[in-house]
Amino acid sequence: MRLALLFCLLLPTSLMAQPNPPDTLPASVEPRAVLVIHGGAGTIRRDLLDEASEASIRAALTTALEAGYAEIQGGASAMDAVTAAITVLEDSPRFNAGRGAVFTADGYAELDASIMDGATGEAGAISGVRHVKNPILLAREVMTSSPHVLLSGDGAEEFALLRGLDLVPNRHFHTDARREALRRVLDQQRAQQQSESGAADHEAIPERAVPEWQLEHPAPWRMTGTVGAVALDNDGHLAAGTSTGGMTAKRYGRIGDSPIIGAGTFANEAVGVSSTGHGEYFIRNVTAYDIAARMRYLGESLAQAAEAVIHETLTESGGTGGVIALGADGTVTMPFNTPGMYRGYIDEDGTVTVLLYRDE
Ligand code: ASP
Repeated sequence: MRLALLFCLLLPTSLMAQPNPPDTLPASVEPRAVLVIHGGAGTIRRDLLDEASEASIRAALTTALEAGYAEIQGGASAMDAVTAAITVLEDSPRFNAGRGAVFTADGYAELDASIMDGATGEAGAISGVRHVKNPILLAREVMTSSPHVLLSGDGAEEFALLRGLDLVPNRHFHTDARREALRRVLDQQRAQQQSESGAADHEAIPERAVPEWQLEHPAPWRMTGTVGAVALDNDGHLAAGTSTGGMTAKRYGRIGDSPIIGAGTFANEAVGVSSTGHGEYFIRNVTAYDIAARMRYLGESLAQAAEAVIHETLTESGGTGGVIALGADGTVTMPFNTPGMYRGYIDEDGTVTVLLYRDE
Protein backbone atom coordinates (compact mmCIF):
# COMPACT_ATOMS: atom_id res chain seq x y z
CA MET A 1 0.00 0.00 0.00
CA ARG A 2 2.75 2.36 1.01
CA LEU A 3 4.65 1.38 -2.10
CA ALA A 4 1.61 1.98 -4.31
CA LEU A 5 1.19 5.47 -2.79
CA LEU A 6 4.83 6.25 -3.36
CA PHE A 7 4.50 5.08 -6.95
CA CYS A 8 1.44 7.35 -7.50
CA LEU A 9 3.26 10.33 -6.02
CA LEU A 10 6.33 9.75 -8.15
CA LEU A 11 4.49 9.05 -11.36
CA PRO A 12 3.79 12.60 -12.53
CA THR A 13 7.36 13.68 -11.76
CA SER A 14 8.88 10.79 -13.62
CA LEU A 15 6.63 11.44 -16.59
CA MET A 16 7.66 15.09 -16.62
CA ALA A 17 11.28 14.03 -16.58
CA GLN A 18 10.91 12.16 -19.87
CA PRO A 19 12.57 13.89 -22.83
CA ASN A 20 10.22 15.48 -25.35
CA PRO A 21 9.25 13.11 -28.12
CA PRO A 22 11.21 14.05 -31.27
CA ASP A 23 8.27 15.64 -33.06
CA THR A 24 7.90 18.32 -30.37
CA LEU A 25 11.52 19.45 -30.70
CA PRO A 26 12.11 22.69 -32.62
CA ALA A 27 12.78 22.05 -36.32
CA SER A 28 16.20 23.68 -36.18
CA VAL A 29 18.33 25.54 -33.69
CA GLU A 30 20.59 26.92 -36.41
CA PRO A 31 20.26 30.62 -37.18
CA ARG A 32 18.86 31.61 -40.57
CA ALA A 33 20.15 34.31 -42.85
CA VAL A 34 20.32 35.64 -46.38
CA LEU A 35 23.97 36.70 -46.10
CA VAL A 36 26.81 35.46 -43.92
CA ILE A 37 30.33 36.89 -43.85
CA HIS A 38 33.67 36.36 -42.14
CA GLY A 39 36.69 38.55 -41.54
CA GLY A 40 39.16 35.78 -40.75
CA ALA A 41 39.92 33.23 -38.05
CA GLY A 42 42.88 33.19 -35.69
CA THR A 43 44.06 34.18 -32.25
CA ILE A 44 41.15 36.55 -31.68
CA ARG A 45 40.73 37.03 -27.92
CA ARG A 46 39.24 39.77 -25.76
CA ASP A 47 42.56 40.39 -24.00
CA LEU A 48 44.30 41.02 -27.32
CA LEU A 49 41.83 43.45 -28.87
CA ASP A 50 41.44 47.01 -27.58
CA GLU A 51 38.00 48.61 -27.42
CA ALA A 52 38.48 50.93 -30.40
CA SER A 53 39.71 48.09 -32.65
CA GLU A 54 36.86 45.85 -31.59
CA ALA A 55 34.30 48.58 -32.27
CA SER A 56 35.71 49.35 -35.70
CA ILE A 57 35.84 45.65 -36.69
CA ARG A 58 32.22 45.19 -35.60
CA ALA A 59 31.23 48.35 -37.51
CA ALA A 60 32.98 47.23 -40.71
CA LEU A 61 31.35 43.78 -40.54
CA THR A 62 27.96 45.44 -40.03
CA THR A 63 28.49 47.80 -42.99
CA ALA A 64 29.48 44.85 -45.19
CA LEU A 65 26.36 42.90 -44.16
CA GLU A 66 24.15 45.90 -44.84
CA ALA A 67 25.75 46.51 -48.24
CA GLY A 68 25.11 42.91 -49.30
CA TYR A 69 21.62 42.95 -47.82
CA ALA A 70 20.72 46.10 -49.80
CA GLU A 71 21.56 44.19 -53.00
CA ILE A 72 19.33 41.28 -52.06
CA GLN A 73 16.51 43.60 -50.98
CA GLY A 74 16.80 45.39 -54.30
CA GLY A 75 16.28 42.10 -56.12
CA ALA A 76 19.94 41.68 -57.16
CA SER A 77 21.63 38.27 -57.32
CA ALA A 78 23.55 36.42 -54.62
CA MET A 79 26.67 37.15 -56.71
CA ASP A 80 25.97 40.89 -56.37
CA ALA A 81 25.46 40.58 -52.61
CA VAL A 82 28.73 38.66 -52.17
CA THR A 83 30.62 41.18 -54.30
CA ALA A 84 29.16 44.16 -52.42
CA ALA A 85 29.94 42.74 -48.97
CA ILE A 86 33.50 41.71 -49.86
CA THR A 87 34.26 45.06 -51.54
CA VAL A 88 33.43 46.84 -48.25
CA LEU A 89 35.79 44.55 -46.33
CA GLU A 90 38.56 44.89 -48.94
CA ASP A 91 38.34 48.67 -48.57
CA SER A 92 38.63 48.50 -44.77
CA PRO A 93 42.21 48.51 -43.40
CA ARG A 94 41.05 46.21 -40.57
CA PHE A 95 41.14 43.03 -42.65
CA ASN A 96 43.75 41.03 -44.50
CA ALA A 97 42.21 41.67 -47.92
CA GLY A 98 42.62 44.64 -50.23
CA ARG A 99 43.72 47.60 -48.08
CA GLY A 100 45.21 46.17 -44.88
CA ALA A 101 46.55 43.01 -46.56
CA VAL A 102 49.57 41.33 -44.98
CA PHE A 103 53.05 41.74 -46.46
CA THR A 104 55.10 39.18 -48.33
CA ALA A 105 58.65 38.59 -47.07
CA ASP A 106 59.76 41.09 -49.74
CA GLY A 107 57.44 43.82 -48.43
CA TYR A 108 54.60 43.72 -50.99
CA ALA A 109 50.89 43.07 -50.69
CA GLU A 110 49.99 40.15 -52.99
CA LEU A 111 46.31 39.44 -53.21
CA ASP A 112 44.20 36.35 -53.94
CA ALA A 113 40.42 36.10 -54.42
CA SER A 114 37.71 33.85 -55.82
CA ILE A 115 33.96 33.77 -56.37
CA MET A 116 31.52 31.04 -57.36
CA ASP A 117 27.92 31.13 -58.53
CA GLY A 118 26.00 28.21 -57.05
CA ALA A 119 23.20 28.58 -59.59
CA THR A 120 25.38 28.03 -62.66
CA GLY A 121 28.50 26.36 -61.25
CA GLU A 122 30.62 29.09 -62.85
CA ALA A 123 33.62 30.46 -60.98
CA GLY A 124 36.42 33.01 -61.27
CA ALA A 125 39.62 33.53 -59.31
CA ILE A 126 42.85 35.52 -59.27
CA SER A 127 46.11 35.14 -57.39
CA GLY A 128 49.23 37.15 -56.66
CA VAL A 129 48.01 40.54 -57.90
CA ARG A 130 49.70 43.68 -56.56
CA HIS A 131 47.73 46.56 -58.04
CA VAL A 132 44.07 45.62 -58.29
CA LYS A 133 42.12 47.70 -55.79
CA ASN A 134 39.31 45.18 -55.34
CA PRO A 135 40.48 41.65 -56.14
CA ILE A 136 36.96 40.21 -55.76
CA LEU A 137 35.82 42.35 -58.71
CA LEU A 138 38.62 40.95 -60.85
CA ALA A 139 37.75 37.37 -59.81
CA ARG A 140 34.19 38.06 -60.95
CA GLU A 141 35.43 39.51 -64.25
CA VAL A 142 37.46 36.34 -64.83
CA MET A 143 34.25 34.38 -64.39
CA THR A 144 32.01 36.55 -66.53
CA SER A 145 34.38 37.88 -69.20
CA SER A 146 37.02 35.22 -69.81
CA PRO A 147 36.96 31.55 -70.75
CA HIS A 148 39.17 30.80 -67.71
CA VAL A 149 38.69 30.19 -63.99
CA LEU A 150 42.01 31.26 -62.42
CA LEU A 151 44.41 33.98 -63.60
CA SER A 152 47.61 34.84 -61.77
CA GLY A 153 50.21 37.60 -61.39
CA ASP A 154 51.03 39.88 -64.34
CA GLY A 155 48.51 38.21 -66.63
CA ALA A 156 45.72 38.80 -64.14
CA GLU A 157 46.74 42.47 -63.88
CA GLU A 158 46.83 42.85 -67.65
CA PHE A 159 43.30 41.44 -67.73
CA ALA A 160 42.25 43.91 -65.00
CA LEU A 161 43.57 46.78 -67.12
CA LEU A 162 41.70 45.47 -70.14
CA ARG A 163 38.47 45.23 -68.16
CA GLY A 164 38.85 48.78 -66.82
CA LEU A 165 39.16 47.87 -63.14
CA ASP A 166 40.68 50.33 -60.63
CA LEU A 167 44.44 49.85 -60.37
CA VAL A 168 46.40 51.34 -57.47
CA PRO A 169 50.05 51.50 -56.37
CA ASN A 170 50.99 48.67 -54.00
CA ARG A 171 51.31 51.15 -51.13
CA HIS A 172 47.52 51.64 -51.24
CA PHE A 173 47.27 48.30 -49.42
CA HIS A 174 49.96 48.96 -46.79
CA THR A 175 49.25 49.61 -43.10
CA ASP A 176 51.60 50.09 -40.14
CA ALA A 177 50.04 47.20 -38.25
CA ARG A 178 50.83 44.75 -41.06
CA ARG A 179 54.34 46.16 -41.47
CA GLU A 180 54.92 45.53 -37.77
CA ALA A 181 53.54 42.00 -38.11
CA LEU A 182 56.01 41.34 -40.94
CA ARG A 183 58.88 42.58 -38.81
CA ARG A 184 57.88 40.26 -35.98
CA VAL A 185 57.54 37.24 -38.24
CA LEU A 186 60.88 37.86 -39.92
CA ASP A 187 62.51 38.30 -36.49
CA GLN A 188 60.96 35.07 -35.34
CA GLN A 189 62.04 33.21 -38.48
CA ARG A 190 65.60 34.50 -38.13
CA ALA A 191 65.71 33.41 -34.50
CA GLN A 192 64.32 30.00 -35.39
CA GLN A 193 66.89 29.54 -38.15
CA GLN A 194 69.69 30.50 -35.80
CA SER A 195 68.59 28.09 -33.11
CA GLU A 196 68.05 25.29 -35.65
CA SER A 197 71.44 25.76 -37.30
CA GLY A 198 73.03 25.74 -33.85
CA ALA A 199 75.40 28.38 -35.18
CA ALA A 200 74.56 30.80 -32.43
CA ASP A 201 74.33 30.02 -28.75
CA HIS A 202 71.13 30.94 -26.95
CA GLU A 203 72.35 34.31 -25.64
CA ALA A 204 73.15 35.48 -29.16
CA ILE A 205 69.52 35.30 -30.31
CA PRO A 206 68.21 38.88 -30.29
CA GLU A 207 65.41 39.83 -27.90
CA ARG A 208 62.15 39.80 -29.86
CA ALA A 209 59.10 41.97 -29.26
CA VAL A 210 56.82 38.98 -29.77
CA PRO A 211 54.39 38.10 -26.99
CA GLU A 212 54.62 34.60 -25.62
CA TRP A 213 51.27 33.49 -27.03
CA GLN A 214 52.37 34.44 -30.51
CA LEU A 215 55.46 32.31 -30.25
CA GLU A 216 53.35 29.42 -29.04
CA HIS A 217 50.90 29.76 -31.91
CA PRO A 218 52.93 30.99 -34.86
CA ALA A 219 50.50 30.01 -37.59
CA PRO A 220 47.18 31.60 -36.59
CA TRP A 221 48.47 35.10 -35.86
CA ARG A 222 50.11 35.26 -39.25
CA MET A 223 46.86 35.02 -41.12
CA THR A 224 44.01 36.77 -39.29
CA GLY A 225 41.76 38.87 -41.48
CA THR A 226 40.89 37.07 -44.71
CA VAL A 227 37.34 37.98 -45.74
CA GLY A 228 34.51 35.97 -47.25
CA ALA A 229 30.79 36.06 -47.92
CA VAL A 230 27.99 33.66 -48.84
CA ALA A 231 24.59 34.93 -49.99
CA LEU A 232 21.15 33.54 -50.77
CA ASP A 233 19.04 35.66 -53.12
CA ASN A 234 15.28 35.95 -53.67
CA ASP A 235 15.42 33.28 -56.38
CA GLY A 236 16.92 30.81 -53.90
CA HIS A 237 20.36 30.94 -55.55
CA LEU A 238 23.58 30.81 -53.56
CA ALA A 239 26.98 32.40 -54.24
CA ALA A 240 30.23 32.44 -52.26
CA GLY A 241 33.43 34.47 -52.40
CA THR A 242 36.73 34.90 -50.53
CA SER A 243 39.50 37.53 -50.65
CA THR A 244 42.86 37.66 -48.87
CA GLY A 245 46.42 38.90 -48.68
CA GLY A 246 47.43 35.36 -47.65
CA MET A 247 49.98 34.79 -44.92
CA THR A 248 52.49 37.27 -43.51
CA ALA A 249 56.02 36.81 -44.91
CA LYS A 250 54.88 34.42 -47.65
CA ARG A 251 57.55 33.77 -50.27
CA TYR A 252 58.14 32.48 -53.81
CA GLY A 253 54.69 33.40 -55.14
CA ARG A 254 52.95 31.31 -52.49
CA ILE A 255 49.23 30.89 -53.15
CA GLY A 256 46.82 29.85 -50.40
CA ASP A 257 43.39 28.28 -50.50
CA SER A 258 41.38 31.49 -50.96
CA PRO A 259 41.59 31.57 -54.78
CA ILE A 260 41.27 27.77 -55.08
CA ILE A 261 37.73 26.74 -55.96
CA GLY A 262 36.78 23.82 -53.73
CA ALA A 263 39.29 24.73 -51.00
CA GLY A 264 38.65 28.39 -50.12
CA THR A 265 35.35 28.91 -51.92
CA PHE A 266 32.57 26.66 -53.17
CA ALA A 267 28.88 27.04 -54.02
CA ASN A 268 26.27 24.82 -55.63
CA GLU A 269 22.48 24.68 -55.48
CA ALA A 270 22.48 23.39 -51.88
CA VAL A 271 25.29 25.21 -50.05
CA GLY A 272 27.80 28.04 -50.26
CA VAL A 273 31.09 28.02 -48.32
CA SER A 274 33.97 30.43 -47.69
CA SER A 275 37.04 29.30 -45.74
CA THR A 276 39.65 31.05 -43.64
CA GLY A 277 42.72 29.67 -41.93
CA HIS A 278 46.01 27.99 -42.73
CA GLY A 279 45.54 27.65 -46.47
CA GLU A 280 47.84 24.70 -47.11
CA TYR A 281 45.55 22.49 -44.98
CA PHE A 282 42.40 23.76 -46.68
CA ILE A 283 43.89 22.97 -50.10
CA ARG A 284 44.92 19.44 -49.09
CA ASN A 285 41.55 18.74 -47.47
CA VAL A 286 39.53 20.42 -50.27
CA THR A 287 37.61 21.87 -47.34
CA ALA A 288 34.84 23.96 -48.94
CA TYR A 289 33.91 21.25 -51.44
CA ASP A 290 34.10 18.54 -48.78
CA ILE A 291 31.16 20.15 -46.98
CA ALA A 292 29.06 20.06 -50.17
CA ALA A 293 30.19 16.48 -50.91
CA ARG A 294 29.32 15.21 -47.43
CA MET A 295 25.86 16.74 -47.76
CA ARG A 296 25.31 15.20 -51.18
CA TYR A 297 26.89 11.78 -50.73
CA LEU A 298 26.41 11.12 -47.02
CA GLY A 299 23.11 12.96 -46.67
CA GLU A 300 24.51 15.00 -43.79
CA SER A 301 22.91 18.29 -42.76
CA LEU A 302 24.86 21.49 -43.37
CA ALA A 303 25.79 21.75 -39.69
CA GLN A 304 26.91 18.10 -39.46
CA ALA A 305 29.03 18.37 -42.61
CA ALA A 306 30.69 21.65 -41.61
CA GLU A 307 31.37 20.45 -38.05
CA ALA A 308 32.99 17.25 -39.32
CA VAL A 309 35.13 19.06 -41.86
CA ILE A 310 36.47 21.56 -39.30
CA HIS A 311 36.50 19.60 -36.03
CA GLU A 312 37.52 16.24 -37.50
CA THR A 313 39.22 16.51 -40.91
CA LEU A 314 40.94 19.90 -40.54
CA THR A 315 41.79 19.53 -36.86
CA GLU A 316 43.08 15.96 -37.20
CA SER A 317 45.32 16.99 -40.10
CA GLY A 318 46.84 19.73 -37.89
CA GLY A 319 45.17 22.70 -39.60
CA THR A 320 43.62 25.76 -38.00
CA GLY A 321 40.79 27.96 -39.19
CA GLY A 322 37.09 27.92 -39.91
CA VAL A 323 34.35 28.26 -42.49
CA ILE A 324 31.10 30.10 -42.97
CA ALA A 325 28.42 28.13 -44.77
CA LEU A 326 24.88 28.95 -45.85
CA GLY A 327 22.33 26.41 -47.04
CA ALA A 328 19.64 26.91 -49.66
CA ASP A 329 17.09 26.88 -46.82
CA GLY A 330 18.88 29.82 -45.18
CA THR A 331 20.59 27.75 -42.48
CA VAL A 332 23.85 29.30 -41.27
CA THR A 333 26.78 27.50 -39.70
CA MET A 334 30.19 28.96 -38.81
CA PRO A 335 32.48 26.40 -37.12
CA PHE A 336 36.14 27.18 -36.36
CA ASN A 337 38.92 25.63 -34.27
CA THR A 338 40.82 28.84 -33.46
CA PRO A 339 40.23 31.06 -30.39
CA GLY A 340 38.00 33.32 -32.50
CA MET A 341 36.68 34.16 -35.92
CA TYR A 342 35.29 37.51 -37.10
CA ARG A 343 31.87 36.55 -38.42
CA GLY A 344 28.31 37.73 -38.87
CA TYR A 345 25.05 37.29 -40.67
CA ILE A 346 21.94 39.23 -41.59
CA ASP A 347 18.49 37.66 -41.72
CA GLU A 348 15.55 38.23 -44.04
CA ASP A 349 14.29 41.10 -41.87
CA GLY A 350 17.61 42.89 -41.89
CA THR A 351 18.61 41.96 -38.33
CA VAL A 352 22.41 41.93 -38.03
CA THR A 353 24.41 39.57 -35.81
CA VAL A 354 28.17 40.11 -35.47
CA LEU A 355 30.42 37.80 -33.43
CA LEU A 356 34.16 37.81 -32.82
CA TYR A 357 35.05 35.45 -30.00
CA ARG A 358 34.51 31.76 -29.35
CA ASP A 359 32.21 32.32 -26.36
CA GLU A 360 29.79 34.65 -28.18
N1 ASP B 1 43.47 31.10 -45.96
C1 ASP B 1 44.34 32.21 -46.18
C2 ASP B 1 45.61 31.72 -46.82
O1 ASP B 1 46.13 30.70 -46.41
C3 ASP B 1 44.68 32.94 -44.93
C4 ASP B 1 43.53 33.19 -43.98
O2 ASP B 1 42.43 32.75 -44.20
O3 ASP B 1 43.73 33.88 -42.96
O4 ASP B 1 46.11 32.39 -47.69
